[in-house]
Amino acid sequence: MVYVINFDNTPLMPCASAIARLLLKQGKAKCMKRTPFTIKLLYQTTNYTQNITLGVDTGSGKIGSSAVNDKGDVIYMSQVEIRNDISDKLKQRSNYRRNRRNRKTRYRKARWLNRKNSIRSDRFSPTMTSKISSHLKEIKFIQTILPISKIILETATFDPHALKNPAVLSNKWLYQKGINYGFANTKAYVLDRDNHTCQHCRGKSKDSKLEVHHIIFRKNGGSDEASNLVTLCKMCHDSLHGGNITLKGGKSKGYLKHATQMNGLRVQLLKLLPSADETFGFVTKEHRQLLNLPKEHYMDAVVIASQGSEVSFKTNVVLFKKGVSDGDYQQFKGIRSEQRIPTGKIQGFRKFDKVRYLGVEYFIKGRMSTGYAILMDAKGTKVTLKPIPKFSKMERVQARKSWIISQETLQNIS
Ligand SMILES: [Zn+2]
Ligand SMILES: [Zn+2]
Repeated sequence: MVYVINFDNTPLMPCASAIARLLLKQGKAKCMKRTPFTIKLLYQTTNYTQNITLGVDTGSGKIGSSAVNDKGDVIYMSQVEIRNDISDKLKQRSNYRRNRRNRKTRYRKARWLNRKNSIRSDRFSPTMTSKISSHLKEIKFIQTILPISKIILETATFDPHALKNPAVLSNKWLYQKGINYGFANTKAYVLDRDNHTCQHCRGKSKDSKLEVHHIIFRKNGGSDEASNLVTLCKMCHDSLHGGNITLKGGKSKGYLKHATQMNGLRVQLLKLLPSADETFGFVTKEHRQLLNLPKEHYMDAVVIASQGSEVSFKTNVVLFKKGVSDGDYQQFKGIRSEQRIPTGKIQGFRKFDKVRYLGVEYFIKGRMSTGYAILMDAKGTKVTLKPIPKFSKMERVQARKSWIISQETLQNIS
């Protein structure tokens, strides 16, 4: 499947590869992007579009996105890995600055408290700003290649309002009958409250399968309320019901850092995308299991976009994107900063450039001025190659961008 952009840069419905090939051959279109493959028409056509819903599984680490049309055809899937190095980079920068100050290289009087941004009220931390903009960037990108008519965001795993008043659940986001959404919501809340950790062994069993247990059994009149529920791993849960252990008491410790970040993200995204609808993870999970789809961020996005109805995959390609920094700010190295670090191109190559080496595509992880490079795959893992790859044997496929993109084709999908 190929994405199509009209002559006036508005996105059109995607077309089959065969049609795209024909258009390119006849000179009626030109190639715009290689990943994902996008063509631009060289003549104006009428903007025939269908309703396309974009579903986004938001997160503080990974974002899943998918676009599905009214008929349930999946036409886009992606997973973005958000940058996680912002606060480290800022600490590093402040170290460099402190060091420079102590070297007494200043030629003008020191000024203090002149950082307007850091004393502003209602300020977002740089980490949060980066996370929010990663979400917006991906959404804007999809809007450039597909005519999106509706956006649905999964902002949290459970709906806090429905915990107190399950009646609010009955009017939205419930597609299939017969699912106990109220209990699914409470379960999602309990898992979150207990930090996704078994409250008996505190994760010592290394069993990753978590279950929610009724402290007073249901058959003894125990309620489905959060106060009667506790997170246990399958191993502890089985031995508890087998009578081999008794439940240890004690409250779980406070929220993880990511919970606070997620709430900040939720509020900001809903504010910045006022036309977007909101859904919750517990609804997505029920429908993902019903549709029998694998547990992946992009599959959650498919379920969000299709709103729980059956889907057929018109594309089996998933784009994997990873955010990288715009540049390296260290300019010198050596004990007395005597060595300048080359920031320009070395033999025409820069860091994070996409290159083809011996028929395979890689990204440049590191460069040596002697004409060699260290390569990595799109996930950022170093690839060990012998002999060490030479620039002269590489072809530059794409210049560096603020994210590195690769695509994978899924098997056994229909
Ligand atoms: Zn356990
Ligand atoms: Zn139980």
